[in-house]
Amino acid sequence: MSPVFEELFQQARKTIPLIHASELFTLLSLENPQFKLMDLRETDEYHQGKIAGAIMLPRSRLEIRVEALVKPEDTLVLYCSSDVRSVLAAQVLLDMGFPNVSALKGGITQWIAQGYPCEPCLNEHYLKRFESHINLPEIGVPGQTLLKSARVLIVGMGGLGSPVALYLAAAGVGELGLMDADIVHLSNLPRQILYGMPSLNLPKAWSAAYTLQTLRDDLKLNVLNERLHAGNACPIIENFDIVVDASDNIETREVINAACVDTNTPWVYGSVSGFEGQVSLLDAQNGPCYRCLWPNPPPTPLSSGPLNTAAGLIGLLQANETLKLLLGHGEPLYGRLLLWNSLECRLREIQFSKKPNCPVCSTNA
Ligand SMILES: [Zn+2]
Repeated sequence: MSPVFEELFQQARKTIPLIHASELFTLLSLENPQFKLMDLRETDEYHQGKIAGAIMLPRSRLEIRVEALVKPEDTLVLYCSSDVRSVLAAQVLLDMGFPNVSALKGGITQWIAQGYPCEPCLNEHYLKRFESHINLPEIGVPGQTLLKSARVLIVGMGGLGSPVALYLAAAGVGELGLMDADIVHLSNLPRQILYGMPSLNLPKAWSAAYTLQTLRDDLKLNVLNERLHAGNACPIIENFDIVVDASDNIETREVINAACVDTNTPWVYGSVSGFEGQVSLLDAQNGPCYRCLWPNPPPTPLSSGPLNTAAGLIGLLQANETLKLLLGHGEPLYGRLLLWNSLECRLREIQFSKKPNCPVCSTNA
């Protein structure tokens, strides 16, 4: 250490309490909501793993982000690899108005040496790949970790399912369920962009899995070469955090709706026809369900198609809504139906509410 740095460190060392690994282990077991553990290492140091429950905030971003993550009344313990950066950072937080701050003696190195448990972090390859997301303050390492642990079921691997799957895989979602009982036809290719000529006559779910696995070899895939029906819907949907409806028929949407109400699972509704499409987010715990939106089946669209870009845009809006929900950011589409028209190039919104006597989601029904 240089003399100046040494002096700074010694000054901070006199002010900042150090706690031992055994004390931290006890504090973590108390599950006090005002107790916050913060990992200050930079992302290229994550190969050692992390202490469960730690907020990952690299030292280089501390002053910019800390006030969004913790409150002045919280009790904070900081750790780094040893305890040099955490002691100095604790002094900074003290000066910023966080009075209850201490540092872990010996950092994560001592924690591990004494046999306390760690959990894996995102590896360096993953962090490099998703650095553009990680650099967004609203996502960062915590948000990207959420995406990595997320499980999304896509029902229908056609014109909507193709962009949904490609964008969710590319965004870093950890597990996708790919559900479709059909095979790839020549007339599918303009809008079902997961497939090419070698996919013809192959099962869509398997062909999609092949393409997605080449995009990301760490992506966990659950290939479901079958139709969703009332008999299999709940056991399948229970394994996922969110469902994306990329089907092309009302019967499947009714099955998804009933099973998602039963299993308390949110789902992203999407449909497209001709030059038009619509999207909403349905979750009976937080708003209306599909039957609240359509008490009677919606009219069958007269036009066929769709235009491939209309399907692409609706699928992209569905993927966008899925990512927002997984990250817990933005204004969800609960009770809002987005209507897209490709020819007008216009997006409109209709609001709808929960029906008190809805036969699917109401407790009064
Ligand atoms: Zn309802």
